[in-house]
Amino acid sequence: MQLIWFKKDLRTQDHRPLYEAAKRGPSVCLYIYEPELIHSEEFDTSHLEFINQSLVELDQALRALGGCLILRVGEVINVLSELHRDHPIEALWSHEETGNGVTYARDIRVKDWTQANQIPWHEFPQTGVVRRLEHRDGWSRRRNQMMACNLVAVPDSIQMVEGLDIGRICKPKEFDLPECQKTQLINGGERSADNLLQSFLKSRGQHYSREMSSPVTAHDACSRLSASITWGCISVRQIVHALRQRQDEVRLARQEGVATGGWLTSLKSFDARLSWHCHFMQKLEDEPRIEFENMSRAYDGLREDEFSQERFEAWRDGQTGYPMIDACMRALKQHSWINFRMRAMLVSFASYHLWLHWREPAIYLAKHFLDFEPGIHFSQVQMQSGTTGINTVRIYSPTKQVKDQDPSGEFIKQYVPELSGVADKHLPEPHKMSRDDQTKSGCWIGRDYPEPIVDHLTAYRSARDRIYAVRQQSSAREEARRVVEKHGSRKGPSRKGPSRRLSGPRANA
Ligand SMILES: Cc1cc2nc3c(=O)[nH]c(=O)nc-3n(C[C@H](O)[C@H](O)[C@H](O)COP(=O)(O)OP(=O)(O)OC[C@H]3O[C@@H](n4cnc5c(N)ncnc54)[C@H](O)[C@@H]3O)c2cc1C
Repeated sequence: MQLIWFKKDLRTQDHRPLYEAAKRGPSVCLYIYEPELIHSEEFDTSHLEFINQSLVELDQALRALGGCLILRVGEVINVLSELHRDHPIEALWSHEETGNGVTYARDIRVKDWTQANQIPWHEFPQTGVVRRLEHRDGWSRRRNQMMACNLVAVPDSIQMVEGLDIGRICKPKEFDLPECQKTQLINGGERSADNLLQSFLKSRGQHYSREMSSPVTAHDACSRLSASITWGCISVRQIVHALRQRQDEVRLARQEGVATGGWLTSLKSFDARLSWHCHFMQKLEDEPRIEFENMSRAYDGLREDEFSQERFEAWRDGQTGYPMIDACMRALKQHSWINFRMRAMLVSFASYHLWLHWREPAIYLAKHFLDFEPGIHFSQVQMQSGTTGINTVRIYSPTKQVKDQDPSGEFIKQYVPELSGVADKHLPEPHKMSRDDQTKSGCWIGRDYPEPIVDHLTAYRSARDRIYAVRQQSSAREEARRVVEKHGSRKGPSRKGPSRRLSGPRANA
């Protein structure tokens, strides 16, 4: 029996383990609900619902090929041992996973188990991440080669192994998870991923590069493919192939004199972000400790002892007194998604204005991101909180973000209804309204909407000074050189060392 272990690769297309195993004989397609993962602090009911939708569709697709999906609940080694006892496993097939500490440790146990039982375990990459990478030189080229390879065909058929209990889809309550309260979520499954891709490439994405930063427009203008990529309902390579085809079409149209208004720029930006996906995941692959520890050790001790639970809760609950922060947090909790700039602003506010260590906010956000991808998430959170030591320090001004990204207050008023009567000009800083304006707007600061939790300028200056006090130390520069060497993208000035990148902070970014 060939055993195909589906993890975060819930699809049949461009799935090498499925293709390779199916051509070798009777095969079992297995998904394991792992209580250890489901009960981890980053996991949410919305994740399970997305997984379940994807599993239902995956099962249908496998049945069309003559197979089906076998479902089990339990610790992976126990599940594998039980299967192996009744139906000896000839080989185990799966994709490589760059996951969190739980999956990392689990994969080590699986490796040991397969070796002890003399079962070959064939693992294949499914993103541009390279296992056991020695250094970053030439990484981009390798990643691009991987993306340019042909897509793996769906097998013509799957030979079933008879006599196995199929198992069943498990509902959240079976794991003591609460009901999902979120709305307008992206659906799981290959069909939904394909629909998102097509609608983005054919219509929604035209003004992507212009509209991705505002939470008012990003919802439709961004691809919204992240959750589908995270859970593997579509591979990055499938997206890259469709993108190349679309770029060719648009270029051809342009040569023929058709106006292509913004498409080429938007498709190029999208392309860059798909490569960032792999670039950020490679960081966690190369240094798994960054899930828990500062990327640059020079920042150890900077925030750890100053964690304020009260500040964290105000941030978490969308009650900071800064409308853009509060609206984003509340929108995120409702829909499990917020755009890149707003994610960066939320982390920047928690890390700089509130001086919270990044780990707790990161876990909270991970739970609420339907697309939680440890490699991207922890690298991005560290980048936005200044602990990589190599990136420009960006301290977002939450008031400027209102003026730039939601000048008419459409987004803020939707998610912070207490401010619905407040005039647009007061939305960046409602606490500065006169008593008359507060009466007119029906919003009393301190009663209906909180006073700002911190003063922006004071908090900004303090954070900037403290971060730069570390950054200027020679030990921090030394550590920055190590980080660039290990994780740098090998593009632009970072190659030569971090010095130019360590110049002044970007306030009010
Ligand atoms: C603090 C923070 C945490 C983040 N955590 C995650 C996470 O857990 N999972 C996740 O997929 N993305 C994460 N991102 C990156 C980015 O915000 C999301 O990928 C994006 O908002 C998802 O929406 P989309 O699919 O419409 O993206 P699009 O803009 O349409 O981009 C297409 C794809 O490119 C990739 N991508 C886009 N932006 C980035 C980026 N900056 N870095 C790496 N890859 C990118 C994603 O796979 C995305 O689906 C995080 C960003 C920040 C600032």
